[in-house]
Amino acid sequence: MVLRSVLRIKPWLRKCLARCRHCGIFFLTDPRNAGRQDLGCPFGCSRAHRQRQSTQRSIAYYREPEGKIKKQALNARRCNRPQPAASPSPVPPGLRPFLQYVCVMVGLIEGRPVRLWEVIGMLERTQRQHRMVRTRRIDQSMARLNEQPP
Ligand SMILES: [Zn+2]
Repeated sequence: MVLRSVLRIKPWLRKCLARCRHCGIFFLTDPRNAGRQDLGCPFGCSRAHRQRQSTQRSIAYYREPEGKIKKQALNARRCNRPQPAASPSPVPPGLRPFLQYVCVMVGLIEGRPVRLWEVIGMLERTQRQHRMVRTRRIDQSMARLNEQPP
């Protein structure tokens, strides 16, 4: 597990180790959250949990008469005004929680705040390097084949 080797190299991060209360997975968290037992992992659990809570909240809210009126007003407004086009995101929404987690991890490891686009840049660079290595390997085996045909 990558996390364990990270902890071996950076033992002070051990205090940032947290365990998801939903799925039990270990993950690194912000030092400010250290020691908390009620954390959800960044792999979707905490988001799913938050969404469930907010859904329940809004259901309860719209059940109230006052809420119903607000909802009607909201719906009316929604019909009248065209929805603004969502700005294109460079990150697929499914990948975002993971990237945000990588962001926190890299930030903790490097001891500085790391922005999401930095992580994306890092991953892109790594991917490019892998591709280069792979191409080189194929080239080499092609060269070998040309030298000594089977
Ligand atoms: Zn979880």
